[in-house]
Amino acid sequence: MSDSTLRVGLIYPELLGTYGDRGNAVVLVQRARWRGHDAELVEVPASEPIPDSLDVYLFGGGEDDPQSMAAAGMRASAAGIGRARDNGAAVLAVCAGFQLIGHRYDTGDGESIDGLGLVDAVTRAGSPRLIGEIVVEPAEGLPILTGFENHGGRTTLGAGERPLGRVLTGGGNGDGSDGVLRDRLVGTYLHGPVLPRNPALADRLLSWVLGDLAPLDSALEEKLRAQQLDAGSAAGLRKWWQDRRLGRG
Ligand code: GLN
Repeated sequence: MSDSTLRVGLIYPELLGTYGDRGNAVVLVQRARWRGHDAELVEVPASEPIPDSLDVYLFGGGEDDPQSMAAAGMRASAAGIGRARDNGAAVLAVCAGFQLIGHRYDTGDGESIDGLGLVDAVTRAGSPRLIGEIVVEPAEGLPILTGFENHGGRTTLGAGERPLGRVLTGGGNGDGSDGVLRDRLVGTYLHGPVLPRNPALADRLLSWVLGDLAPLDSALEEKLRAQQLDAGSAAGLRKWWQDRRLGRG
């Protein structure tokens, strides 16, 4: 971290902010403050360059048009984001944001939107849209994650990348996996927003920047997580049953 204040960057919230993704920034700032750290939410409006001085970069979801506008600004600031990454900054990228940290998103309208290429991933629009509760079993050391997804994109990771986890309910990347997990970087299709729903993932991101974290009482957050896990499992069961009845399963 560059100084003693944690700077959580909410990038282009007017373009990349569907389904309350702003909540991810609020949760990171609050969970740092509860532990006695100075923390600041830095909003970067779409008209401005993305600074290289942030400790966490949050890229949220958005539909194709705002996503295309956001991509242009992100590419223009790619060098600064790269410098910040070299200095230890973390990234959380959700849905459209996840697609834009990859190489490219090919929309259903024949447009090809270039991303930052921070991860080796390509996304193509597909059908049907993947909408609903999503439950993901992470690759390592994190409890099961729950979220909400609504996207057409199907993401293919390069051979050297590993996903955030395995999809138990829902669509994710479209191949049974969701997202991408890298050194100080998470990409995922989970809205919800994802961090209020999954405090362990929030703390994983914080620990990448702040180091070891003091424990927090997360009883309320865990109650929400348990409720959403029930909802996600029920949605999965319903889909399994429908597919069986229609002879698709
Ligand atoms: N436009 C992208 C898609 O449909 C992302 C949607 C989103 O961020 N919710 O795949």
